[in-house]
Amino acid sequence: MKRKKPLVIGNWKMNLTCSEAVKFAQLLRKQMITTNKIVCGISPSFIFLKDICTILADSAIFVGAQNIHSERAGAYTGEVSAFMVKEAGCSHVIIGHSERRHIFGETDAFINTKVKTALSANLKPILCIGEKLHERAGGKTTLVIENQLKNGLRGIGAEHIQDSVIAYEPVWAIGTGKTASPEQVNEVHTYIRGLLIDIYGKDIARDTYILYGGSVKPENTRDLMAQEEVDGLLVGGASINLESFLKILDSASNFS
Ligand code: PEP
Repeated sequence: MKRKKPLVIGNWKMNLTCSEAVKFAQLLRKQMITTNKIVCGISPSFIFLKDICTILADSAIFVGAQNIHSERAGAYTGEVSAFMVKEAGCSHVIIGHSERRHIFGETDAFINTKVKTALSANLKPILCIGEKLHERAGGKTTLVIENQLKNGLRGIGAEHIQDSVIAYEPVWAIGTGKTASPEQVNEVHTYIRGLLIDIYGKDIARDTYILYGGSVKPENTRDLMAQEEVDGLLVGGASINLESFLKILDSASNFS
């Protein structure tokens, strides 16, 4: 039994066309039967956010963007602002995903500005943090996590942290098929919870969602969710297949 309803978010990344995404959202809305036992969201591409938000309006499934720019508006060709995705109907936004950090060179300072901009637009940030393989091998996991968490949340007050979600995503487990063991996950989540307690106090830290992400699939959902400090999951590859996403939701809902 968890303290709060499990939270499961599908990160579709740069997958699915508009027609595929629309069909997926329609079927998800129809087939998701565990709505009162779970909080669920999906993160489609910018280009069809509005279509998906319309399909899922007044449903139990929220929509999140995969990214925003740190500035509110301006001469940033090709970028999308927090206020644009809010108006499209999103409630959440993924910030600091490892693909943004490592492919697009996003820094902690840039990510921190995005978190603040998201909150100012009334979007709930899903702040992703996680170590690379060589950092884990070198015993630096906690140092990396502490830096990314504290820098990402710099200046974020207690009144906002409960609107935020932390996702622990070890880089070596993302899209690789290598899941961190449930024990490894719980160890890092316990560390993150401790950092949140130090910054925000026990009650607020306990109410803040800490998700795990990295090669989550129907077969490992149960063992991951069974961990004390795992409040939910951020699912990449397995979230673009409706059948596997529904299985993950079903399995996670048993921990409500
Ligand atoms: C992700 O990109 O957030 C993720 C967890 O991907 P995957 O599940 O494919 O490892």
